Amino acid sequence: MLIVPERDIADLMTREAAFAAVEKVFAAMASGDASNFPVVREALGHEDALYGFKGGFDRAGLTLGLKAGGYWPNNLERRGLINHQSTVFLFDPDTGKVSAMVGGNLLTALRTAAASSVSIRHLARPDAKVLGMVGAGHQATFQLRAALEQRDFEKVIGWNYHPEMLPNIEKVAAEAGVPFEAVELSGMTEADVIITITSAFSPSLMADHVSSGTHLACMGTDTKGKQEVEASLLARATVFADEVAQSISIGEAQHAITGGQITEADVTQIGDVINGTHPGRSSDDEITLFDGTGVGLQDLAVAAAVVDLAVQKGLAIEVDF
Ligand code: NAD
Repeated sequence: MLIVPERDIADLMTREAAFAAVEKVFAAMASGDASNFPVVREALGHEDALYGFKGGFDRAGLTLGLKAGGYWPNNLERRGLINHQSTVFLFDPDTGKVSAMVGGNLLTALRTAAASSVSIRHLARPDAKVLGMVGAGHQATFQLRAALEQRDFEKVIGWNYHPEMLPNIEKVAAEAGVPFEAVELSGMTEADVIITITSAFSPSLMADHVSSGTHLACMGTDTKGKQEVEASLLARATVFADEVAQSISIGEAQHAITGGQITEADVTQIGDVINGTHPGRSSDDEITLFDGTGVGLQDLAVAAAVVDLAVQKGLAIEVDF
């Protein structure tokens, strides 16, 4: 069994490798070669923690496993540890023997950023120049860094519910040499691509904050009840998702489904666009919306990629098990 500890992930994993792994597994999901298992998420009744498992099997990539982890709200204050904790376990699909244990914390941010980047690569207008950010927390910095590589963006505009957090994303834009401007939500009409990455339970971005031709990557809503954008925006947009079942139950589409503004048939797996079985964007005026809910196969794909990199660099720790 190989171990790749959390401390080594930053030096090993690249945004390019994460992008390639996530794009490939989205394609495999759409062609029926890979499927996610039902998600388990439980309140432990201990330390106020939420704990669960996201797993799946990619028959094309021969990746089998699960991510185990969750949220321990007291970690930072009481123990100096980050609140989100996860570990990925990979298994040999031929034998069922465990093959790798990989730190999952940084990988989660990288695979989530890779998902919105895949959507931007395949769905945003090629001439997109202004990138809008709604959200400025931990994930937002990863989202912005990855998105800036997808088009020749000339400007980043940002809004956050807690304006004092905006310097988090301003710093990332500055590092990439792209000017940053804080705007009101109404100013988002200037954006060609908008990423929403907040933990909100009511919509911030309304339909009239979005111009024709915009691509939206809605990445924050991954639980029942969360919501970042007005449901009517989904009726106005062509909607894509990492996985349709998650999109309509725990993703941004849940609200438009409940409200009857769209149906399940209106949501297309992004893998269909990657595979060329759906044309993707059909005009410069169309609004495209990617509902990124986060699937277990993404975690397994980036974990398998980092194990390969660790082996190549001689950094994988081998133990008899
Ligand atoms: P964080 O705590 O670092 O940041 C939270 C962000 O949400 C901040 O920008 C904050 O200002 C904003 N926010 C909080 N309350 C708000 C409100 N009422 N209205 C509008 N904005 C509000 O969290 P994070 O780690 O950056 O995660 C952000 C979200 O992304 C969470 O909901 C998390 O569950 C989700 N997430 C999704 C995936 C996925 O695969 N889709 C993966 C990881 C995290």
